[in-house]
Amino acid sequence: MHPWPQPPGGPHYSACHLCDTLHEAAPLAEGVAARCRGCGAVLYQNRPASLARVTSFSIAALVLMFVVNWFPFLTMDAAGIRTTLNLASGAKALIAEGSPLLGMALALFTIVTPLALAGGLIYVCAPLLFGRIAPGAVHVAKWLNKTEPWNMIEVFLLGVLVSLLKLNKLADVHFGPGFWAFGAVMLCMAAAVAGIDRDELWDRLEVAKQ
Ligand SMILES: [Zn+2]
Repeated sequence: MHPWPQPPGGPHYSACHLCDTLHEAAPLAEGVAARCRGCGAVLYQNRPASLARVTSFSIAALVLMFVVNWFPFLTMDAAGIRTTLNLASGAKALIAEGSPLLGMALALFTIVTPLALAGGLIYVCAPLLFGRIAPGAVHVAKWLNKTEPWNMIEVFLLGVLVSLLKLNKLADVHFGPGFWAFGAVMLCMAAAVAGIDRDELWDRLEVAKQ
């Protein structure tokens, strides 16, 4: 549907990240991976329906983020008092109760980063589906490349599970729809990021820029 375009100029080269062997890099057919001649490591690959996959998983993640923020993340019953928390109210409570750094980190890593990452991926990839490039898409793509390691919602979710296991001894803890939606956001973001190869994305941006 959208074959990997041949960027202008060239020949283009790709170096193996493991053994530094230099290869002449050519666009690949869908579903094919280029491997290093020296050590067999994957250099780059053309994943099936890459642009459509990134765009649709990112849209799904954005929709789920609304569920995460609108519905209770968890409810706690302790000493006859029921407390309902979602991510934003949890962050606010932390800031109000003397842990501003932790509260801001919670909001940054669980609300701001997933929204920015999913939004950025849509901004870059959706126009490319139609062979177009959004204004500043190259800068957004570079920025996404840098922030990707900061998408730490997996780590956060693990932390929540560990603390809830401890909390469970003191209070009756129930997961709300927000929690399950957050798990689904995690899976969608992983699928979106894994949907496209960096080399493929740069080549597509390069050609769409013309
Ligand atoms: Zn190699």
